[in-house]
Amino acid sequence: MRARFWGTRGSIPTPGQRTVRYGGNTACVEVRDGGDAILVLDAGTGLRELGLYLAQEADGPLSLEMFLSHLHWDHIQGIPFFRPAYDPRTSLRIRAPRHAHPVKELLGMGMDDPFFPVDLDALPAKIDIEEIPDGAERGAGPFRVRSALLHHPAPTLAYRVEADGRSLVYATDTEDPFSGKDNPVIALASGADCLIHDAQYEDDDYKKGWGHSTIASAVDVAARAGVRRLVLYHHDPDRSDDALDEVGKRAQKLARERAGALEVLVAYEGMELAI
Ligand SMILES: [Zn+2]
Ligand SMILES: [Zn+2]
Repeated sequence: MRARFWGTRGSIPTPGQRTVRYGGNTACVEVRDGGDAILVLDAGTGLRELGLYLAQEADGPLSLEMFLSHLHWDHIQGIPFFRPAYDPRTSLRIRAPRHAHPVKELLGMGMDDPFFPVDLDALPAKIDIEEIPDGAERGAGPFRVRSALLHHPAPTLAYRVEADGRSLVYATDTEDPFSGKDNPVIALASGADCLIHDAQYEDDDYKKGWGHSTIASAVDVAARAGVRRLVLYHHDPDRSDDALDEVGKRAQKLARERAGALEVLVAYEGMELAI
């Protein structure tokens, strides 16, 4: 399996001179298996660049699997600008957490008149939307994907993606639960090759109950789950490139103290990983 990061930022896109190296686009990761099947994790503004790349690369109809962690803006805003969605030959299967209202309606709201000129229903691609419950397991082409419900102020899922005998866990917009409850990411990520984890806060700007993790808690979860590699993700919009360099150094020091073999990386736009 391989992963490529098209958006690493949380909350809101942050273009500008201070975020050139780690990137300003919001959450989007492309995963491929050895046979080049494509699975997309989240559809933040990074999805637009991925769409351009796929449209250029494809020499036939695209068949894409997409898993949305949740429906907050920074995880869905790329959909109206996803070039392959405007090609009637594209088949796009979207999975998202179950809500009290149908996800298809909720996802379409942001594209309704007068917010956007093209309705979700009017996109030419063949789009299927499936709602998945906590703990559900799904096949997606050659991938096996298992979900776990996270602690966040909206229904939000983490996903464990397995293919080629490797495992990748995507756990963004997650906060360690309070009151001594088990953190669902630890069981989901147990023994995984790679954990992409929310790392929005430092200890001194942590906002309890907002549904995000500190760098220290991301390292703690990775160590407790026994993963091989941790990728810090969903960077705070106020974190500059220089600040993220420091985050990386601190997280690596924490990891050495806590779990010697754990590798820690800070996600940047364009980063490619062999899982
Ligand atoms: Zn987010
Ligand atoms: Zn969120």
